[in-house]
Amino acid sequence: MNLQFITMSIAVVLAAGLVVTVVGLNFLTGSVEFFFGRPKLSFLRSRRGKNGFGFGLRWNTTKEPTTFDTIKVALYNPFAKPSQIEIIRSFSGKSSAFGEDLDLGPKFLELLEAISFPKKVSAKVMVELSSSKEGINHQYEMTSEKFLQLMSDSEHTVESYMEQYGPKTEKVYYPTVKKSFVADPLPVTGGKKLKIAVNPEFAGAFAPAGAADGGETVENFSVSKVWIEPGCIVCDACETIIPEVFEVQDATCVIRPNAPLTDGLRIVEAAEACPVEVIKFDK
Ligand code: SF4
Repeated sequence: MNLQFITMSIAVVLAAGLVVTVVGLNFLTGSVEFFFGRPKLSFLRSRRGKNGFGFGLRWNTTKEPTTFDTIKVALYNPFAKPSQIEIIRSFSGKSSAFGEDLDLGPKFLELLEAISFPKKVSAKVMVELSSSKEGINHQYEMTSEKFLQLMSDSEHTVESYMEQYGPKTEKVYYPTVKKSFVADPLPVTGGKKLKIAVNPEFAGAFAPAGAADGGETVENFSVSKVWIEPGCIVCDACETIIPEVFEVQDATCVIRPNAPLTDGLRIVEAAEACPVEVIKFDK
């Protein structure tokens, strides 16, 4: 036996071992079945009561780009009654792994009762998932016993099934806007000055009436009579301006007894501020 032959033998043994390992791992992880097998049907826990049937389906969508939208559950029970039950339901089309929890109606309960007790050894249940558009269907036939066992063994709900096998959607991240309750510095205005009351340069613009243009202050005066006409909406404006004269009560405003009528300027101001113009006066 020469050296070349021994080397080749070792290489062949190693290669065979590698192939066996890869195939074994594939079977263990289910990837062989996923890539080369037919769609995998799972039974899911239903939340729809006695008539509910939960199921999930996943398959290689690249190999079989199909939209499944119909399920048929059928009982074949040739030696007992009922000998046949067939339930067909449509659902919104699914083109990737999905789970559904459907109410199959009273016929499903009838089917379960027919196979539950006494056990019908010869009874078969068939679950068929199909695509009404592409005319593709996959049938899963099993004994009634197996069907009941799969139903009772189901651990996943639709939600947990979808979490594990459903399409993964990327999380959407929204940028957060940085906010502060402290005002940003005022923008540079190219030498322009802000016209605000606290700016001495514009003091004149905010001076009392009659003083803005540097002219004489308007002289105050007395009014001879002031009264309130009906229609006051008790907004408090007048009392805020000159509380010595106006008193706002629950339903209206009144002139205080012996109110001083010497501050005509503020009385006029109150009359002008009255939103319903019910303050009247005589000079
Ligand atoms: S301002 Fe006019 S509406 Fe307002 S409380 Fe005085 S009188 Fe009434």
